[in-house]
Amino acid sequence: METVENHGDVIFQSKLPDIYIPKHLPLHSYCFENISEHRTKPCLINGATNEVHTYEEVELISRKVAAGLSHLGLHHGDTIMILLPNSPEFVFAFLGASYIGAVSTMANPFFTPAEVIKQAKASNAKLIITQACYVKKVWDYAVENGVKVMCVDSPPPEAAGECLEFSQLTSADEGDMPEVEINSDDVVALPYSSGTTGLPKAVMLTHKGLVTSVAQQVDGENPNLYIHSDDVILCVLPLFHIYSLNSVLLCGLRVGAAILIMQKFDIVPFLELIQRYKVTIGPFVPPIVLAIVKSPVVGNYDLSSIRTVMSRAAPLGKELEEAVRIKFPNAKLGQGYGMTEAGPVLAMCLAFAKEGFEIKSGACGTVVRNAEMKIVDIETAASLGRNQPGEICIRGDQIMKGYLNDPESTARTIDKEGWLHTGDIGFIDDDDELFIVDRLKEIIKYKGFQVAPAEIEALLLNHPSISDAAVVSMKDEEAGEVPVAFVVKSNGSTITEDDIKQFISKQVIFYKRIHRVFFIDAIPKNPSGKILRKDLRAILPTKAATL
Ligand code: AMP
Repeated sequence: METVENHGDVIFQSKLPDIYIPKHLPLHSYCFENISEHRTKPCLINGATNEVHTYEEVELISRKVAAGLSHLGLHHGDTIMILLPNSPEFVFAFLGASYIGAVSTMANPFFTPAEVIKQAKASNAKLIITQACYVKKVWDYAVENGVKVMCVDSPPPEAAGECLEFSQLTSADEGDMPEVEINSDDVVALPYSSGTTGLPKAVMLTHKGLVTSVAQQVDGENPNLYIHSDDVILCVLPLFHIYSLNSVLLCGLRVGAAILIMQKFDIVPFLELIQRYKVTIGPFVPPIVLAIVKSPVVGNYDLSSIRTVMSRAAPLGKELEEAVRIKFPNAKLGQGYGMTEAGPVLAMCLAFAKEGFEIKSGACGTVVRNAEMKIVDIETAASLGRNQPGEICIRGDQIMKGYLNDPESTARTIDKEGWLHTGDIGFIDDDDELFIVDRLKEIIKYKGFQVAPAEIEALLLNHPSISDAAVVSMKDEEAGEVPVAFVVKSNGSTITEDDIKQFISKQVIFYKRIHRVFFIDAIPKNPSGKILRKDLRAILPTKAATL
């Protein structure tokens, strides 16, 4: 649906009517608002152990954790870091923090120590909740800076006696949970994203923002919602990414579905769990879709329970889309479109929400309810009509409050009229379907994970044999995109491609590693010194072919 505003802006909105959203509720209250309807039903199923927590248990444990956090001296506005793989403890920590008005910053447990510490420091985390095997990544930093470390399992010997244990939280008396006044504008989650440019930044998502985003996906009167209380939703995507935290965990809790937690993706256990628990909703990313399509063992499993397959976080090619449809004949398969800063969901497949809508191949859905979208010309910023590609912008209560302690980057991303500029190029067709066609911004998406070129460039420039560097994406069948570097050697340097790859590998998580290095005389830049990444991407095929 589109409307033209007075000053000529073409605004696109959902075909579905707006709904009432209880934005005044804190996130945990909103998630458990209808708990009386599913108190004794399974809420979290641990795929590794088959342990089941009912809704009433999850609510109770989260309140105990809240009381325990408060005993540790954590207050409204304080930040905890969750450095965990998918697990029930992740969920309890996140909800417990929410209950006391604290903020969770979630980090990938495979980060290198430097990466974790950078995030812990920038977020001012007072407590880090992790597993024994990751404690050494943060221990020295924590001791030096008075940050508490807590293990969900037995602490490692080197930290024994000093490292806290999660059982301290879960054994607290929920009656000790403090009464906290939570404002809907308070921050509840701090995921990291580099946005349209520069280094990873802390994205402030508020109670109101996440309540709105979840409601846009699952609230309302429609009979065939994306997910409902009889569903079993597979939580295999990492909860430290907002896609999984929001569209799997929070949406699942809100509707009363069973959330089946898998720690990591492995094709055989993945297929076994779908079959055993009769999973109905599969929120995936393109690399998982690719693994399903390529796996020779898929045919050995009964996957007929799946009714919805959703792919998001990176583009899903048409061929892959067709191929996976064959594997899930009973399922609706559609794409969604998200961006951390947007809360994160901007668009989703309408057919998930209502009967009678067709799924168009290549489309990533239509704009969510209670939100506005516009497409702007990348040169003139003029608002464009249908079928004209431009930068996708979104406005609504679901978007971030801003970047933590970074008003400049915030102002570059959210304009004065409240539009969040995504840095993605797309168009809206005659049926309101959004198609993403290109990316204006710098980020590289490796299997859906963000790589910020600026972060890798800064590391490269630390090397004495490198005088200048630029990192861009290169297409890759398995990962979607991989980072590659253009490097200008310092005078007389004999540094090799392997030296540079190893230099970076030691400092970053696996998905930020450089896959190719191309030596070049100078990095093309505009007069103000901005790297002309398009020019580098243009010479990439020739460079890649000649080496
Ligand atoms: P993140 O903040 O990590 O979720 O990354 C957001 C970015 O991923 C978006 O701005 C897009 O560039 C990309 N993205 C997400 N969903 C899709 C999709 N369905 N198709 C193409 N790109 C996508």
